[in-house]
Amino acid sequence: MPRESSAGGVVVREHEGVLEVAVIRPRGKQVWALPKGHVDKGEKPEEAAAREVLEETGLRAHLERQLGEIRYVYQFRGARIFKTVVFFLFRYEGGEIDVLDPKMRVEVDQAKWVPLENAHRLLAYRGEKEILKKAQRLLLGQGAGTGTGEAGRR
Ligand code: ATP
Repeated sequence: MPRESSAGGVVVREHEGVLEVAVIRPRGKQVWALPKGHVDKGEKPEEAAAREVLEETGLRAHLERQLGEIRYVYQFRGARIFKTVVFFLFRYEGGEIDVLDPKMRVEVDQAKWVPLENAHRLLAYRGEKEILKKAQRLLLGQGAGTGTGEAGRR
C-alpha cells in the first residue's frame, strides 16, 4: 500500500485568560481539522509542521514538543493510501489568524481560534481529537498558559 507522511501542529495561545487552539476548515470540506501537510524532502517533521501552520493559519509559532502520531487509511482514485501524521505542540508567537498567502487559499476555507477546552468536539477526526486531548492534559498539568515546555514532559 502506498504510504504518505505529513506533520501538523496544535498551536495554543492564552487569550483573555482562556487557552485557545488554531483550527482550520480545509477547502471544500465541511469539517474542522488541525493544520498539517506533507513533509518535504530534506525537511524535518517539526519544520514541516511549523511551515504548514504558517501557510494554513497565518500564525508564527514556537515549537514546544512532539505530541504523537496518528495513522489512517484513505482512498484516492481507487487506491488505498496509508498515512501517518506526526503532531507537535506550538506556542503562538505572532501573525493574524486566517490572513493567508493567497496561494494557500486553495487549501483552506477558514482558520480560527477556538477555546481549547471544547475544541475536541469540533474536530472531525478521532486521531486529531486524541492529539488535542493530550495537548490539553500537558498544558493543564503545567499550569494554564505559563509552561516552558519542559514541565509537561513526564
Ligand atoms: P495533507 O494535508 O497532509 O497535505 P491531503 O489534504 O492531501 O494531505 P488528507 O488531509 O490526509 O490529505 O485527506 C485525505 C483524505 O483523508 C480525505 O478524505 C480526508 O477527509 C481524510 N482524512 C484527513 N484527515 C484524517 C484523519 N485524521 N483521520 C481519518 N481520515 C482523515
